[in-house]
Amino acid sequence: MTFSFDNSYARDLPGSYLRLEPAVAPAPQLRALNLFLAKDLGLDLDVLREGAAGWFSGAVVPDGADPIALAYAGHQFGGFSPQLGDGRAHLLGEVLDRSGARRDIQLKGSGRTPFSRGGDGKAALGPMLREYLISESMAALGIPTTRALAVVTTGEHILRDQGLLPAAVLARVAASHIRVGTFQFFAARGETDKLRALMDYTIARHYPQAAQAETPALALFDAVAARQARLIAQWMGVGFIHGVMNTDNMALSGETIDYGPCAFMEGYDPATVFSSIDRQGRYAYGNQPLILGWNLARLAEALLPFFDADPDRAVDLANARLEAIAPAYQAAWVEVMRAKLGLAGAQAEDATLAEDFLKAIQGVDWTTAFRRLAGAVTVDAGVVGDAAALRAWLPRWRARLRPDAKTALLAANPAVIPRNHLVEAALAAATAGDMAPFEALLAAVRDPFGDTTGREGFSLPAPQGFGDYVTFCGT
Ligand code: AMP
Ligand code: MG
Repeated sequence: MTFSFDNSYARDLPGSYLRLEPAVAPAPQLRALNLFLAKDLGLDLDVLREGAAGWFSGAVVPDGADPIALAYAGHQFGGFSPQLGDGRAHLLGEVLDRSGARRDIQLKGSGRTPFSRGGDGKAALGPMLREYLISESMAALGIPTTRALAVVTTGEHILRDQGLLPAAVLARVAASHIRVGTFQFFAARGETDKLRALMDYTIARHYPQAAQAETPALALFDAVAARQARLIAQWMGVGFIHGVMNTDNMALSGETIDYGPCAFMEGYDPATVFSSIDRQGRYAYGNQPLILGWNLARLAEALLPFFDADPDRAVDLANARLEAIAPAYQAAWVEVMRAKLGLAGAQAEDATLAEDFLKAIQGVDWTTAFRRLAGAVTVDAGVVGDAAALRAWLPRWRARLRPDAKTALLAANPAVIPRNHLVEAALAAATAGDMAPFEALLAAVRDPFGDTTGREGFSLPAPQGFGDYVTFCGT
């Protein structure tokens, strides 16, 4: 038996999902299979290779799976949608990985569900490979994320803005698929019993220590807020822009989830936006910490009935917590910056030191600017940015360096991120039937901190002619 499913969500949370089979793919073909992840999951690799195309396209439901579409709501670009849910996804079930952690295996692009609204329930190959590539990059960068286990084309073609495209299913592995929007769904419907069951389930699965707290709901909120603050600080550290930080795309587990129009910033500018649908810049790079607080406020609202039986007191408790988010985020960000700057210990001026560096690298390629610091530990060599500002800044920085700064800097600042021009080229080739550029880029982003000799092309920013980059939602 390849999978030992144990489907606790389906078992413990009746009424929170719909049970239904994925669409049957007419001609499934395996395009990508993540053997590293499969090994972590304790799967038999030979059996997996045999069965992958069938299982991960939805054509064959593996033994023990109990496919369900999860209900959730969410604020999308600030407006509330009371019913979103898995409109093109099926949770196959949960497995325990080799460390004993419970992980969901979900199909995305696996056909219509009652939550599909106007959508066709399908996904195009390009966006599914994009999620695969970028989530693998995030994992290699040490950032909590859902993972991609496989991408299978179904043999169908679907109509999108770009024309007819090959359809594909992504098999995604996640600590869970519980979103802020999952809580909002039951809160909006006034289904307090189901909301409580969801809260208890989330605590047991992700934050078991919160069950012992005097008020478990508050302990849950605090734990989620801490993980999310750290997560967004890590995104900011690598220049990651999620692109659709809607409340349905924020996971209670603290993993990055739902890679749509996401991309990595090149030239440093807090106003950077890539998504074609984000016209107001709500989810711009520099806004992500504010949206962290906004989304957590929506979670607090949903949990209010469990904060305190007295509604006024519940609101006071929530407000005190919401006020603590900005300082918690700032502390997490400074921690990330200390690592990126290779500082020894912690000092009060570290935030200013980091901010002054950012002032000196406005418009400069974010990844390169930090990576080059490793060469400037003892001499003013190779740094990029405003020359005068850096001349003043470098001595201040050197005075704060840890003894093993060079090694630490190389381990904290990636040389290789998924460069937008390379991602586009790889996805275009894959859509045309050539997987080689995707595989080469995937191998490169899996080794972000290694030496780039012989693979310099993966570390360079987009050539001048690439122009302004625009991403589209993966629908
Ligand atoms: P996303 O933008 O992928 O986070 O999706 C937002 C919502 O739209 C979720 O409820 C999805 O299930 C739904 N959705 C996105 N694309 C499709 C599609 N092609 N068919 C049906 N539902 C979709
Ligand atoms: Mg989503």
